[in-house]
Amino acid sequence: MVTHLRLANRVARLGVETAFVVASKAAAFEAEGNTVYPFHLGDLNLTTPENIIDAAYAALRKGKTGYTPNTGIPQLREMLAYDFNKSRGTNFGPENVAIQPGGKPVISKFLLTVMNPGDEVLYPNPGFPIYESQIAFHGGIPVAYTIVQNDDGFTFDIEGLKKSITDKTRVLIVNDLHNPTSAECSEADRKAIAELAVAHNLLVLIDEAYFDVRYEGVSSSIVTEPGMRERSVVLYTFSKKFAMTGWRLGAAIGPLELIEVIGKLNVNDESCTNHFVQYAALEALEGDQKAVRLILARLQKRRDLCVDILNDIRGVHCFRPNATFYLYPDVTVAMENKGFQTYDELLDAVLRNTGVSMCAREHFGTPLSGELRKHVRLAYSGIGRKDIETGLMRLKYFLEA
Ligand code: PLP
Repeated sequence: MVTHLRLANRVARLGVETAFVVASKAAAFEAEGNTVYPFHLGDLNLTTPENIIDAAYAALRKGKTGYTPNTGIPQLREMLAYDFNKSRGTNFGPENVAIQPGGKPVISKFLLTVMNPGDEVLYPNPGFPIYESQIAFHGGIPVAYTIVQNDDGFTFDIEGLKKSITDKTRVLIVNDLHNPTSAECSEADRKAIAELAVAHNLLVLIDEAYFDVRYEGVSSSIVTEPGMRERSVVLYTFSKKFAMTGWRLGAAIGPLELIEVIGKLNVNDESCTNHFVQYAALEALEGDQKAVRLILARLQKRRDLCVDILNDIRGVHCFRPNATFYLYPDVTVAMENKGFQTYDELLDAVLRNTGVSMCAREHFGTPLSGELRKHVRLAYSGIGRKDIETGLMRLKYFLEA
């Protein structure tokens, strides 16, 4: 009898999306008959706009059920290039767009296209955990740069980024409108990052998953900085803006040379993205945008409610970000007040005593040396205002008791 299957060495380097681990703890607690207030996962409890759902049904009925070209149906590539250019001020054509089953696959496909084993890849920590996992899985060396807290919010540590570049650095991952901190590059940051990328000949993944999840101001893309268009692939997703997380729909947008390779990876991996889902995406882009505005308005109200209650909790401080649906409050003093030494102690006690389920700093990469403040991450995309209020008031009573 075989007791141990021999797995490939790389499997040991594969990480997980840690928010899903927190989600399973919350589900187990709920299964014991408890109420859970879910702030852990960046999913939405808002339904996809009706016109998009109708378009999917109509496409199914019209027989849009076979394979499509590997990089997507031409109409969608064209419409996405048009929509993308309109919001970013770029000049991409349909040939620069490779439709994907979600934004996430762009991460591994980009790395497979540009990274050799042993190459160093700069990635944000705290950051979306899949970057580090995929870099290491494919044989690269993940090198963290950080996001720092200042008086107005969180910001990219450009000096730290500069210092982390070595003669082995080949790739840079930037997540502007950042998960988990909601940090946004200033114009000066965008320029500095672009200058570094050009000076060191880096290939860049620009993850813009939250570009359109914005309440105040206007988003700008690093891809428009000099020298960036020809060295960057942008991760685009329909997941968050259109409340379509489970539809699995996104795109890689970039120079033809890279998009052609990513297209070949599509052929090798999934052949193509679901046919009828691509027609729904077409409607998402060219149809009525009223429902999208409503999604944003609801998220903004949730943000304000969360920030107001969190800032009313003794020992907690939370910024009010302009974009994304994540909050990253500083809980250092609240943890000290309660005598919690570790995030595990805090999260376990909070879940058991209040039902509030959330993630902590360590779910977004190993905390770096010299990091003194403690943070948790709350997503308000998957929980309505009534539950936000009840859950966070319970959190307040617990942390202040
Ligand atoms: N990038 C970031 C920063 C994210 O937070 C997420 C999802 O949470 C993704 C990419 C991938 O999203 P999707 O695969 O649903 O497009």
